[in-house]
Amino acid sequence: MTRHVLALCCLCACGLLPAGAGDAPVAGTMFFQGRDGMDVTAIQDTATRMKVDLFKNTSPDYPIRFKLPPDWEASVNVFLVRQDGKSYLIDAGNAPERGSLAAKLAALGVKPEQIDAVFITHIHPDHVGGLLAGGGGAGFPRAALYIAREEYDAWQNDESRQALGRFLQPYANRLRLFAFGDRLPGGFTARLAAGHTTGHTLYALDRLWFIGDLVHAARFQFQHPVFCARYDRDPALAVTTRIDVMTAAARQNAVVLGAHIPFPGLGAVAGPENLAGATGQTEWKHFRFLPVQDGKLP
Ligand SMILES: [Zn+2]
Repeated sequence: MTRHVLALCCLCACGLLPAGAGDAPVAGTMFFQGRDGMDVTAIQDTATRMKVDLFKNTSPDYPIRFKLPPDWEASVNVFLVRQDGKSYLIDAGNAPERGSLAAKLAALGVKPEQIDAVFITHIHPDHVGGLLAGGGGAGFPRAALYIAREEYDAWQNDESRQALGRFLQPYANRLRLFAFGDRLPGGFTARLAAGHTTGHTLYALDRLWFIGDLVHAARFQFQHPVFCARYDRDPALAVTTRIDVMTAAARQNAVVLGAHIPFPGLGAVAGPENLAGATGQTEWKHFRFLPVQDGKLP
């Protein structure tokens, strides 16, 4: 089987600079060169760990028993995509008092008004919090805010998430609700990847797939996709979606870019492999995540 393996952009993994930035690498950011002048900068908004009791096996008959470590390395990643003179963010990380997106963009030499659009995978605080500026108001004064209508409608009908409206409100005049299949700026397309939330959205730019919260603990959920984080609204659907997307990513040599995959959060997918002695159980699949190993994207 051909496997698409990318390699880290420098041996020290310190992060390379996006064109136009200053002289020193910015800690917690990493630059990747794509095709036709497009580039992606992974930005670690927040370093986190996820406790094991967040995770639950959705398949009681799952034949593998193992002892899990007390917690898993995670991250809150935001991706900056630049092409044709435009700058796009995928998600916005945590609220300014917790996240570091604004400071890291500034260190990279990217001004808030240079962001043309923000694509939101779903309306949770660690994805929309950074839309707000530190002193209130829009953190990105020119940016259009793209959210799938299905996700937006589900959020409006979910009382437990109403408070998050304060992060969206400054963008009321620039809110672009779209249907799956609509053509989006920059050549992005959006697909429904439901389960984590009702309208959880995957954004694709050719073979770069921004998968949001498809996985929460990469070191574990690629290998055992039947495990769900407590945050998944519909665990059974989240498992199906996770396996479908991972299968498609492996077949199409896509690079997945995850909001909580340990920084820098991107890599190829290998699999699926059947679990020995468990043929016929389609949900018992294993995948492997192959972290990037150089700065080039497909
Ligand atoms: Zn999240």
